Amino acid sequence: MSNKQIATILAQLGNRTDQQNGSISAPLFLSTTYAHPGLGQSTGYDYIRTKNPTRDILEEGLAQLEAGARAVVTSSGMSAIQLVFSYFSAGSKFLVSRDLYGGSFRFFDDIESKGIASFDYFNEVEDLKEKISEEVDGIFLETPTNPLMNEVSIKEVAQLAKANQALLIVDNTFLTPLRQRPLEEGADIVVHSGTKYLSGHNDILAGVVIAKEAEIGEKLAWLANTTGPTLSAFDSWLFIRSLKTLEVRFNQQEKNAQEIVQTLEKHPAIKKVLYTGVGAMISIFVADQHKIGDFLQALKVFSFAESLGGVESLITYPTTQTHADIPQEVRESYGLTPDLLRISVGIEQVDDLIKDLEQALAVF
Ligand code: PLP
Repeated sequence: MSNKQIATILAQLGNRTDQQNGSISAPLFLSTTYAHPGLGQSTGYDYIRTKNPTRDILEEGLAQLEAGARAVVTSSGMSAIQLVFSYFSAGSKFLVSRDLYGGSFRFFDDIESKGIASFDYFNEVEDLKEKISEEVDGIFLETPTNPLMNEVSIKEVAQLAKANQALLIVDNTFLTPLRQRPLEEGADIVVHSGTKYLSGHNDILAGVVIAKEAEIGEKLAWLANTTGPTLSAFDSWLFIRSLKTLEVRFNQQEKNAQEIVQTLEKHPAIKKVLYTGVGAMISIFVADQHKIGDFLQALKVFSFAESLGGVESLITYPTTQTHADIPQEVRESYGLTPDLLRISVGIEQVDDLIKDLEQALAVF
């Protein structure tokens, strides 16, 4: 990371890149193709799938934030995850956090069913120690997990990965580089759903892959050029614009979440609150799962919707939404039961959020 503080790097992203006109806001280059000065010559840009000046600004900023050598931004979090898995050879073996985003599970399940790769799941580090061997090629980790907020030490997992020559991939969507820098703790690759906190306004679908080593980063960029999940120029520009306020948004969301947790923990309609103390994601187990529909209907500020990390507060029902593709018996076996709701806290005035939850919780 440069010697500037994160807020400075974020706010300044793209400034001073337009030498010709001095624009403060990052220039948006929509052109899909670039003229060559002569045969065998290039300005550095040939074709948009390969490289784009606006996307370059975003990728350089994200690599700096996560302390990595190279970032690749893609058209969704899932295409970022798919890009990382395309780095490995067919037949590779992976160990994965048991609790995780349902879409990641669906992807792993699909490639396993086609015989492309094999997956086993672990709950905690002890479990991982028993399962890991030199046959494992990669570990895919969510911490905290979505939606049960399980945490494991990235450092410990990284040591186990290194000892077995496996690559460690961390999905850092929930905490962002503001609160967790997996590459500094020994991970090899970080992925994000850029749709969430990084862009933060529920208006961009994007993904991010950041590699610690330049060699892996270059190979991922080569694969992205080969298969084409690279993010469009306009979305890259909008992503840069949004990223500038990441720290201000995230600090407010986290502050709101911490206050909301205090109310939820005392509420008789809630059996248990899951919150790690950092970030703005909270999960709750409610007293009566049959009243969840009425509760969601009663909300006036929170919206009942999928996704997370945006400035607008959302409540998700993982059982029928984000995690519906994990077979019921599997998800219930590790604690993702139908009485669980997931809350993504936004930047609204916290008293309005608390009042809204209190009036809706009255249905229980
Ligand atoms: N990783 C996590 C932790 C997620 O929550 C999600 C989406 O909800 C994804 C990855 C996939 O990202 P996207 O929806 O941008 O494809």
